[in-house]
Amino acid sequence: MTDNPYAPPENDEAPADLEGAGGGGFHAEQVGDDLAIDKTATFPKVCLKCGSKDVTSFQDHLFQYNPPYVFILIFLCWLPGLIAMMILRKTAKMVIPLCSTCDAGWRSAKVTMVVAIVALIGCLVVSYLLQDPLLMVLGFVVGFAIFLGLVLLKVNPAMLRARKIDDSRVTIIGIHPDAARVILKRSR
Ligand SMILES: [Zn+2]
Repeated sequence: MTDNPYAPPENDEAPADLEGAGGGGFHAEQVGDDLAIDKTATFPKVCLKCGSKDVTSFQDHLFQYNPPYVFILIFLCWLPGLIAMMILRKTAKMVIPLCSTCDAGWRSAKVTMVVAIVALIGCLVVSYLLQDPLLMVLGFVVGFAIFLGLVLLKVNPAMLRARKIDDSRVTIIGIHPDAARVILKRSR
């Protein structure tokens, strides 16, 4: 140790790992096809959707998880169900590194998600206003069909989502295997 307070901090490791682990390290592990990782983790600089090292953007993303029975509640009675969803959901805010192609896909998936929600609410509201039991059921079915179709076919493939969130970790669906390998290598 030197007495010079202006001396650079001593460091055994190469200082160049800034673009890598960041955030002071994290723990990650493979769970089936998914990746469980600390909520506080900073991802290494690799596109999480295709595994490319050519990362051009970082998307702030709020992972959300709801207990499955909330969806049954929404199905039975959608308004209390939606309120329960707001209260019971767990979240994890993370920064997602992406290449330019996957970033474009991510952005358009976000727009599609908004369209899907508007379509769902629109169908529910319109069918409710029509006051006809048959049309209400029809509106309900059509609204959910449009919503699920858009989410499953357009949104999910382009984004990441949480299979599970607890107080410290989030289990993420949809990380490319090459990116998962890089993340696991950085895990402590
Ligand atoms: Zn990519």
